[in-house]
Amino acid sequence: MMAEAIIELKSVERHYVQGPRKLTILNGADFSLKRGEMVALVAPSGSGKSTLLHTAGLLERPDAGDVILAGRACGRLSDDERTSIRRNDVGFVYQFHHLLPEFTALENIMMPQLIKGLPRKEAAERAAQLLDYMQIGKRASHRPSELSGGEQQRVAIARAVANAPLVLLADEPTGNLDPVTASYVFDALGALVRQSGLAALIATHNHELAARMDRRVTLADGKVVPLGSG
Ligand code: ADP
Ligand code: MG
Repeated sequence: MMAEAIIELKSVERHYVQGPRKLTILNGADFSLKRGEMVALVAPSGSGKSTLLHTAGLLERPDAGDVILAGRACGRLSDDERTSIRRNDVGFVYQFHHLLPEFTALENIMMPQLIKGLPRKEAAERAAQLLDYMQIGKRASHRPSELSGGEQQRVAIARAVANAPLVLLADEPTGNLDPVTASYVFDALGALVRQSGLAALIATHNHELAARMDRRVTLADGKVVPLGSG
């Protein structure tokens, strides 16, 4: 293993059985992410982006091949072990924020920390810091419905990194935002990734945002390949 690789996918296969048909979505996918690296995953709808992210993030199990997180082969671990690793080492952001509506922004960011067993005070301090970092410190006591779309996504990003994961996986995180807001949210996300040394794989249809990442990959015939030449 390369010392720097935080996450590696090795010959990953994912198939879905749909009635009599077997759909092959990932077919020997190889991929690795280094610390501090931000990579765009740009591919058409239905090509397997979410499947790749879910597999990388240990939400789905590879049918063959392996996912290696911080040097540890995770593909064949028990569900409990995978959940525990995911809780500590993986942050997810989705297109829709999935924040808990009855809790404030601060509480939403505290939640994964409390689940992990951190004391309330510590969790609240970390949550407040993250909100400041995302430049929405003033929104700490707002509920999701009292936040704009861009603010909701910033809270979702802060929540995803609340437990200081090794890797951030984002599935079209700005897909629901207007271009200007998307750009601001992306700036905040990028700053966070750089500052924390996290590695990030971000599925996006936004070519302008993709161009601002370190490299771009796509999916072709179930494999991860570099996108274009530039
Ligand atoms: P993307 O995120 O790029 O739009 P997905 O990874 O969501 O692509 O899906 C890739 C393909 O796998 C699609 O054709 C989709 O219909 C199929 N698929 C995804 N999840 C399932 C599932 N649970 N069962 C059957 N087919 C699925
Ligand atoms: Mg998808």
